[in-house]
Amino acid sequence: QNHRPHPHQQLQQQPLSIPQSPHDISQNFDPTHIIYDSTTDTTYLRGRLLGKGGFARCYELLSLSNNKIYAGKIISKTRISKPHQKQKILREVELQQDLKHRNVVEFHSYFEDDSNVYIILENCSRKSLVHVLKHRKYLTEPEVRFYMQQLVEGVQYVHLKSIIHRDLKLGNMLLNEDMELKLADFGLATKVDFEGEMKMTVCGTPNYIAPEVLQKKGHSFEADIWAVGCIMYALLVGRPPFETTTLKETYLRITENSFKVPSHISGPAANLIRKCLNSTPSQRPTLRELNADEFFTTGYMPRTLPPSCCTSMPKFP
Ligand code: ADP
Repeated sequence: QNHRPHPHQQLQQQPLSIPQSPHDISQNFDPTHIIYDSTTDTTYLRGRLLGKGGFARCYELLSLSNNKIYAGKIISKTRISKPHQKQKILREVELQQDLKHRNVVEFHSYFEDDSNVYIILENCSRKSLVHVLKHRKYLTEPEVRFYMQQLVEGVQYVHLKSIIHRDLKLGNMLLNEDMELKLADFGLATKVDFEGEMKMTVCGTPNYIAPEVLQKKGHSFEADIWAVGCIMYALLVGRPPFETTTLKETYLRITENSFKVPSHISGPAANLIRKCLNSTPSQRPTLRELNADEFFTTGYMPRTLPPSCCTSMPKFP
């Protein structure tokens, strides 16, 4: 028999002031690096760097109010001196603020001090699918099914809120500690104000840009479905569908719809990629159609993935 005290009894014996966090706080968070949010009277300690973006550096932050770890996007005010740059951040915050879904990174708060602006988000400690693909080169079909299902659910929710993400890519598909997928980065997103509204321009360069966005013909929700197809291709094949050595040539291939699905990709997977990568936006599948697609309804769908999948190929039953 086990004579050690039950874990709960152990906890009760501790003084109340010790944070009951799974992380060893003294080791992972710098007690001299304090960030104070006066809007909610919360103090954060800065931890490890999660990643760097165009504007932001993203760190793990420990809230001393609730001992939870968040991801803090920290943007130096020296980098956003122009009014439109600040406007863009505020827009991103405004769009993300009322999104609450299992597969969308949850917004926590926004504040500033003299040197930086801070966006506090749900922490995705296992970073993004870019990091996974760096180790793995390409993924197995059950893994792709697992990630794609969650991507589709996240996008479905975002569209339901009348938002087009416009920059769906591997780097914006984050993973939390439990390997759950979370959509991130609403920096290029836009709200559709009335049914049938066509957006004419994007303020920035989407990675998996759809032909109608490229040609400035007017675009809408279908541009995200195009990106979903590109993501699925990239995960299974290990490179994007229209990749060339120059942006100009890549854009030409997108316009000409010139891509090949390698022959080792299964029939249902190849078919779904081809449906999403249709030049005509209205001919791409709806999210409802995607959900019911043969790729998702047949074949093995893991309920969870072990974190070892971030770096090595899993063995499925
Ligand atoms: P920018 O808008 O300046 O490009 P990003 O949103 O791309 O900044 O964030 C920079 C990096 O921080 C990303 O590469 C990503 O890996 C990481 N990151 C962003 N949000 C989170 C989060 N919620 N949890 C974990 N890491 C994140």
